[in-house]
Amino acid sequence: MVKICETCNKNKAFIVRPKTRKLICLDCFYTVFEEEIHYTIVSNKLFKAGERVAIAASGGKDSTVLAHVITLLNKKYNYGLDLSLLSVDEGITGYRDDSLETVKKNQQTYEVPLKIVSYKDLYNWTMDEIVKEIGLTNNCTFCGVFRRQALDRGATLIGADKIITGHNADDIAETVLMNLLRGDFFRLGKCVDIVTGKDGVIPRCKPFKYTYEKEIVLYAYHKKLDYFSTECIYSPNAYRGHVRELIKDLEQIRPSAIMDIIHSAEQIDVGVKVKLPVKQTCTVCGYMSSNKVCKACGLLDGLNKGKAKIAIGKEKIHKAKVKDGESIGKEVNQEGVKNLEKLEF
Ligand code: SF4
Ligand code: ZN
Ligand code: ZN
Repeated sequence: MVKICETCNKNKAFIVRPKTRKLICLDCFYTVFEEEIHYTIVSNKLFKAGERVAIAASGGKDSTVLAHVITLLNKKYNYGLDLSLLSVDEGITGYRDDSLETVKKNQQTYEVPLKIVSYKDLYNWTMDEIVKEIGLTNNCTFCGVFRRQALDRGATLIGADKIITGHNADDIAETVLMNLLRGDFFRLGKCVDIVTGKDGVIPRCKPFKYTYEKEIVLYAYHKKLDYFSTECIYSPNAYRGHVRELIKDLEQIRPSAIMDIIHSAEQIDVGVKVKLPVKQTCTVCGYMSSNKVCKACGLLDGLNKGKAKIAIGKEKIHKAKVKDGESIGKEVNQEGVKNLEKLEF
């Protein structure tokens, strides 16, 4: 028996939609996929007409679909955005050099400007050189701190008002569980924010906050989008991998698990007034920082002096500590900033 789409009640169904478990045809799938992202953008007031928006583009499926859908919605709904692609070249041979080729193809397809900022130009180190120096233990800490700053610097260079990233619902649910499992109380409530860094250099938005990874893959595949699917050769990410498996298992018995996790985290109010560090300017590079010297310059100093491992040991981040209902600053070691790529890119 031919199964019919439960949305249009006309066409032959092509899949059970992962998010709703309803039968849907390909045309309706494209429409609901794009319209839900439009709804997320509008209901969260992510943009204002005339803004310059940098799309953080890695060449992977998420950022490729993001570039495609934002370009499409910008035209269809007349958002009035001035879009650009912004890529970071970490200097990872066989990974980022290849994925950047995909970004360059996307630039031609979507006819938007592309800016690439490289670790080599900004820090005089590539990730290949860093890994040679420090090994594969803390490489993602360096990479995450450098990428965060590189994106801000790139966005500043092109005069962007906002950066949008391809973080999807699965990424966010994983981050919620990771924070829960390691007892990172403060981040638990914050990691579901659709806009972050409002007090920083340039705000970052996640238009895919409620978009399932499986649907992004389906959309990219059937629209025949050009994306790069290889994992970073230096990726350890064991912790995130376990959490991802856990969520997949949960989904088997409760298909709404991803959305449930996100919605639960949205309800969390830590009820704590956290004393955020006062923003100042890094005395070395002039970038905004919570300390006299920014994290990137601290790590860089260790690298340049050949003492990178000591720099990592000293590297601290600010975390809320709750004591008698009141917040006091607490320094935690670098364990708390593992998996920065997903948390902050
Ligand atoms: Fe950088 Fe991500 Fe590779 Fe780690 S896994 S080295 S954060 S690109
Ligand atoms: Zn249909
Ligand atoms: Zn600095």
